[in-house]
Amino acid sequence: MARYTGPVCRLCRREKIKLFLKGPKCDSMKCPIERRPYPPGEHGRDRMRQGSEYLMQLREKQKARRIYGVLEKQFANLYREANRQEGITGENLLRMLELRLDNIAFRAGWGASRSQARQFVRHGHVDVNGRRVTIPSYRVRKGDVVTLREKAKAMIVIRHNMDTLDRQVPAWLEATEDRHQVTVRDVPLRDQIDTAVREQLIVELYSK
Ligand code: SF4
Repeated sequence: MARYTGPVCRLCRREKIKLFLKGPKCDSMKCPIERRPYPPGEHGRDRMRQGSEYLMQLREKQKARRIYGVLEKQFANLYREANRQEGITGENLLRMLELRLDNIAFRAGWGASRSQARQFVRHGHVDVNGRRVTIPSYRVRKGDVVTLREKAKAMIVIRHNMDTLDRQVPAWLEATEDRHQVTVRDVPLRDQIDTAVREQLIVELYSK
């Protein structure tokens, strides 16, 4: 299954904001954005000026893709599906991204970053409704119960994440006290999604 495997801090520097792709490093002074808040490359500083309308739309799309770790083709397919659904296309798109299984594992606090949460799913540490699911893009539905498997509950990295991250489970998810299980109470509304993306710009980009 294809995914981006290059240096991720470059992506944040390219978007000129923190995308929180590295877990604890993102909140530390080691975050490269703190020291070099300009795009990477020889001419990075020259790219600091505000671009055209198209460039803003493009950057917003890239930002969303990179936050959720979705490749271009998959993202375009998601957009098409969001466009076919009833309601506001941009919100539909964000909702579908939020309902990915790797994002649920991230929101539950099991993974320090979405890419780590994705790895837990790929390695078979997560069940949906009692059955192992290893597809990170699997879309959960209202009422689905997502559980850490027994072996995963004892994994040091997961226990460490749950003890140290102090991540609040969003209101559309309901976690058990030990946080080894989350239930999808409802699909998220836009104001329950804290991702800093202006989805309208993405819709404008794809509508051209
Ligand atoms: Fe982005 Fe985190 Fe790297 Fe900072 S440390 S640049 S927020 S991925």
